[in-house]
Amino acid sequence: MRSKKIKVSLLAVTALTLSGLTASPAAADGASEPLIWEVPDVSVSQAIKLTDAGFDVIDYEDDGELTVVGDRRVAKKLRDRGFEPRYVDTVYKDVEPSAKADAFGTYYGGYKTPDLHLKHLDDVAAAKPNLAQVYDIGNSWRKTVGQGGHDIKAICLTNRQPGDCQLSPNSTKPRISIISQIHAREIATGEITWRWIDYLANGYGSNAKVTQLLNSTEVWVVPIVNPDGVDIVASGGNSPRLQRKNANNTYGSCSGTQRGVDLNRNHTHKWGGASSQPCAETYQGPRRGSEPEIAAIEGFFAKIHPDQRGPGDTDPAPANTRDVMISLHSYGNYIIVPWGYTTTRPPNDSALRSLGQRMAASNGYRVGNAAGTVGYLASGTTDDFTYGAFGIASFTYEVGGGSGQCGGFLPAYSCLDSSLWPINRDAIMTGALDAASPYS
Ligand SMILES: [Zn+2]
Repeated sequence: MRSKKIKVSLLAVTALTLSGLTASPAAADGASEPLIWEVPDVSVSQAIKLTDAGFDVIDYEDDGELTVVGDRRVAKKLRDRGFEPRYVDTVYKDVEPSAKADAFGTYYGGYKTPDLHLKHLDDVAAAKPNLAQVYDIGNSWRKTVGQGGHDIKAICLTNRQPGDCQLSPNSTKPRISIISQIHAREIATGEITWRWIDYLANGYGSNAKVTQLLNSTEVWVVPIVNPDGVDIVASGGNSPRLQRKNANNTYGSCSGTQRGVDLNRNHTHKWGGASSQPCAETYQGPRRGSEPEIAAIEGFFAKIHPDQRGPGDTDPAPANTRDVMISLHSYGNYIIVPWGYTTTRPPNDSALRSLGQRMAASNGYRVGNAAGTVGYLASGTTDDFTYGAFGIASFTYEVGGGSGQCGGFLPAYSCLDSSLWPINRDAIMTGALDAASPYS
């Protein structure tokens, strides 16, 4: 967690090292290397202006402290506007080269590309046909316009009985959906779902919890919601590019990784409160659900989760509601509950927070709504959609801390197995085992 005490000690370390700061081994050159900056004394309206102007704002705290990612030129621009950015940490961590990983086609020490993720799903289904089935649920933007791109695919895992793993909301077993890398650069999240798929496929019959889960529940995973964006990230190799949004550049000519629509602001439930500036990192798109990736993932959710909540903002989902959705993001060490678009609490608030706390017993994350965790409102998010449209228990995880080898958007690959995967595996398992009755 990001307590003030930790921040003070971070800054003390920073002061000692800043003058001797050189590019990390992963960085190509110092001037353009992305760095993490803390900016004190920023008002809410200033934070919105900076976001609209294209600054990569990733956290905002009650005391007016903003976290921004950008190179030294970005820091200078902030200074030119009268702010005082303070260096926190590098974004690039030490990359441990691995000949085996390189031969496999990975980047930045072992991270997998969309091609590898899609092949992985098919490999698991081929090896475990009694446990796994893969569906093509739609296309990325580049694929829709004939510029390459990818299918978006989902895998269903369960001890398959007749009628299981069908694209129909009337399933016998309750369901959990887990998605990752809707924000492309949050690269630890796709590694977590990769491992989660293997953990279930390989653990059935030997691991008691996995066996219990797959006998009782359908587990659906969409590991790469934004494959075009992940291709852009991976194109940087050992200096991954910080593409957050999709690759759609038709709404404005933006430089570098600023192109695209923020898919986690483009969902259709209560869309419209995020940035309308095409080059902003939180650009919501020209209309609700404008992007093919969102059409794919929302269509998928509608096919597998029954609608159990009334249409009104204050209609609660009933106590016997089934199904859970978890969208993996990074970073901040949070488990975020709806609503993102408002500070008003949703009708199932206490039950949502209760399951959030049970999951947080494994990963130690702080549970709250968007305003109470990352510090800003976020409309058009996945969890607002799946809770708002269907009433299912919906969560956003913000995986990892704000600095250090295992923090930020691009943690060192070894951090997956040393920390990020095991704690989140157990948190997700808690949510999955609750899919039959998450609110009771
Ligand atoms: Zn994210």
